[in-house]
Amino acid sequence: MKWRIGDVMVTKIVELEVTGGSRFILPQATYEAVLPISWLQPHFADERGRLRMSIHALVVETPQRRIVVDTCLGNDKQGRRIPHWNDRSGPFLRDMAEAGFPAESIDTVLCTHLHVDHVGWNTRLENGKWVPTFPRARYLMGRAEYQHWRTATDRPDMETIFADSVTPIIEAGLAQMVETNETICDEISLIPTVGHTPGHVSVMIRSRGEQALITGDFMHHPCQIARPDWSSTADSDPILARQTRERVLTHLADRPILVIGTHFAGRTAGRIVRDGDAFCLVG
Ligand SMILES: [Zn+2]
Repeated sequence: MKWRIGDVMVTKIVELEVTGGSRFILPQATYEAVLPISWLQPHFADERGRLRMSIHALVVETPQRRIVVDTCLGNDKQGRRIPHWNDRSGPFLRDMAEAGFPAESIDTVLCTHLHVDHVGWNTRLENGKWVPTFPRARYLMGRAEYQHWRTATDRPDMETIFADSVTPIIEAGLAQMVETNETICDEISLIPTVGHTPGHVSVMIRSRGEQALITGDFMHHPCQIARPDWSSTADSDPILARQTRERVLTHLADRPILVIGTHFAGRTAGRIVRDGDAFCLVG
């Protein structure tokens, strides 16, 4: 799946797509509450109201750069809280290569934040050691994000995630710390969308008068476009996360900005339009 924004191409590489089982992350999104939001079907929910979610990377090609935004779960990882996120042996790298993006061709890796499903393919296991998956890339990580999680004590699993997916990048000298409003190149810049995590960013693409936004996790699922008040259990600061959703959705509404969702399944992208006192996503 590909989208063109002026001179920029964005390609989705799926690692995992699931239907149901997402109550733990969006507890307010019960089947009964999701069913009436009819535009969610069939891409984002099934006919029973079960949410569909995706874990995918987005490859952003500008005339000068080849950037991977978010690196999913990765293979061979251990100590993850969700059982099937451990010991994976998926074909993600082969799928990337078959789509025209061998790992050596990537010059930039960009993590919207440092949660487990956004840093996994930063590294791969080679002879019992975690090595950078993209050896020619600079890995851009939010300075605020990195500093927060490096010293956080409330999420013991983050220590494991850092050890296998973040620290090896720092030690290889491939990490570059960026600010939440950093300009990456002519077409790509970061905007702060904090609340989900303290240093969370979304990725703005601008080229030839066209515009797109890669969400990251300030929204996990399109149901939060209809219900910005529904917080995710993974939000560091649920109140700030809700304010961010309302602010950004208000900005995006009725503007010609393509919104590409980091966990949106199916068609993954669309435009935000006002719908009563909330919003919906149109294809
Ligand atoms: Zn995520």
